[in-house]
Amino acid sequence: MNAPLPTLSDLVVERVGFGIFVLDRQMNVLMWNRFMHDHSGLSAQQVVGKSIFASFPELPRVWLTRKVESVFQLGSFAFSSWEQRPYLFRFDHDRPITGGVDYMQQDCTFMPIMREREVEAVCVTVCDVTHVSIVQREREEAVAKLQEYADRDGLTGIANRRFFEARLRDEYTRWQRYGGNLSILLFDLDHFKKINDQFGHMVGDTVLREMARRVSHVVRAQDTFGRFGGEEFALLLPCTPLEDAMQVAEKIRNTIGESAVDVQGVNVPVTASVGGASARVGVPAYEALINEADAALYSAKRQGRNRSVAFI
Ligand code: GH3
Ligand code: MG
Ligand code: MG
Repeated sequence: MNAPLPTLSDLVVERVGFGIFVLDRQMNVLMWNRFMHDHSGLSAQQVVGKSIFASFPELPRVWLTRKVESVFQLGSFAFSSWEQRPYLFRFDHDRPITGGVDYMQQDCTFMPIMREREVEAVCVTVCDVTHVSIVQREREEAVAKLQEYADRDGLTGIANRRFFEARLRDEYTRWQRYGGNLSILLFDLDHFKKINDQFGHMVGDTVLREMARRVSHVVRAQDTFGRFGGEEFALLLPCTPLEDAMQVAEKIRNTIGESAVDVQGVNVPVTASVGGASARVGVPAYEALINEADAALYSAKRQGRNRSVAFI
């Protein structure tokens, strides 16, 4: 006798571009479509009639059993997204460039198959969303990179003024609330116009990068070091009294001036002047703290440069 011709729905289930399989309450497989066969390497004949865990021991047993059981109990749909669980089955994906994705990323739907108000079985669909997950991951990475660029100064790679001021505002608010110590230092390279005039703007840029690099090495990780303007830098020192901040100022001044910067065989001597200020009762806002440090810096310049001065 000839086998019955497949129905239209049989043909569709075999052809669709996603996995379809059906489980009973004991987690035995009742149906297994072509997609599942192609991607798992196990045919319906090999899988149907057995526990799904016999064919796929690596499946998350507790999680999957609970999920299917909940559909039997509640009679409503359940879902699993790649964002919570990247995949149910360890299937290869067909992407040449994996973008850090190891297996086919899957969205799954758990659908109750009802007969006379009773859930007779649970139909699971498995959708390949690898491309979506890669695009999403790339987007997240791009956003993180943009965020990073938005906070950095293009020339030196240290924090830019916007980020520095945002950090200062936060620390200032914290200081207003909890007290303690908070200091800032502003430093400005001495006679930098001359350096540009004498050696050219490119050499000037190299000097700025080298200064940022030297100072980055001596500041603590919890301090924020930023480029405040052209050849002006700023350092935010939380939990630091003015006296200690001025010691840091001297350390930075020495680091900047200790040796000339070698730019392609040309020795460029550099010094800096530093102004320091600390948050005190009566300083109304973080901007006032910047102004005080700036006033101290101006005083250092007037006193002959290459020195640090505290605002008092
Ligand atoms: P001083 O601070 O000691 O009073 O003298 P100065 O010559 O450094 O004076 P001022 O701060 O007014 O000048 C800063 C100069 O820095 C002016 C500008 O040409 C230069 N400058 C600002 N930004 C950059 C930059 O990104 N690259 C280079 N190469 N030079 C810059
Ligand atoms: Mg200057
Ligand atoms: Mg300046």
